[in-house]
Amino acid sequence: ATPAATMVGTSIGARNGVLFKGGDILERVRDVDTVVFDKTGTLTEGEMQLTDVVALPQADGGELVAGHEVDESFVLEVAASAERGSEHPLAKAIVEGARERGIDPEEPDSFENVPGHGVRATTSDGEVLVGNRKLLEDEGVDPSPADDAMERLESEGKTAMLVSLDGDLIGVLADADTVKESAKQAVSDLRARGVDVWMLTGDNERTARAVAEQVGIDPENVMAEVLPDEKADAVEEIQDDGSRAMMVGDGVNDAPALAAAYVGTAIGSGTDVAIEAADVTLMRDDPADVLKSIRISEATLQKIK
Ligand code: ADP
Ligand code: MG
Repeated sequence: ATPAATMVGTSIGARNGVLFKGGDILERVRDVDTVVFDKTGTLTEGEMQLTDVVALPQADGGELVAGHEVDESFVLEVAASAERGSEHPLAKAIVEGARERGIDPEEPDSFENVPGHGVRATTSDGEVLVGNRKLLEDEGVDPSPADDAMERLESEGKTAMLVSLDGDLIGVLADADTVKESAKQAVSDLRARGVDVWMLTGDNERTARAVAEQVGIDPENVMAEVLPDEKADAVEEIQDDGSRAMMVGDGVNDAPALAAAYVGTAIGSGTDVAIEAADVTLMRDDPADVLKSIRISEATLQKIK
């Protein structure tokens, strides 16, 4: 493109909250044939709310674990204490949800993040795990007594988390996020244009599929349970057949995936890290601006032909 066309395209973009990192990027975007959305914070608002607390009956018939009766408020108190040290949106929703329910979570004695899986903490009640099935299995705790509760919550599109205390599975918590208002239309407009639309997430398969269904993404185009350091590989896998993917994400976790994609796009409220790694930044936090960026690129390049 001529410098003049590039300037016009760049400024039309800027007026629409679509920032291209240079003229090369502006030209590149129109060749995008695949869009990979990160789920949390991109298709969804990324504002989790604690929605469910389930206390599980104890296998030995007893109701006591670590000298406590296992009821909902005990499960929530134990989990919220363990999550106090975590910055994860899932953790913040649990701590906040506990406070709203009149529980004041204590400071854990020790705390460890297990990325992509959950947290491990020592509290005055004992050794606590909060996280997904893999986290508990790795620690020798059988998650299967919670299967019914987990499956029910996940099929509602919620992120369900297991809670164990001293090796006993005591409950399940669920956090819910809301799908962004424009997400469904954005996906259907991209698809109508022949763009292949994918969703990538660290969340479990069932939750991911429920959200995909809400926004109109094919179940076969959902990659779930992808660990933070596997997201770039997942993008490369999608591009293996020569497709040119735009990866759209907001989190620190997404920076390598943004870099691996043909075009990396950071959305709105994204972190500085993601924005730095991005070729395109969508200032308005609106998934509909993905198509807008493609249209601006096309229009700019048509003018100069
Ligand atoms: P995302 O792709 O949504 O950012 P993550 O990779 O951060 O997901 O986490 C993947 C999964 O690991 C979550 O869906 C959840 O089951 C579990 N997990 C991660 N962090 C926590 C936490 N602090 N508390 C409980 N569970 C967690
Ligand atoms: Mg994330």
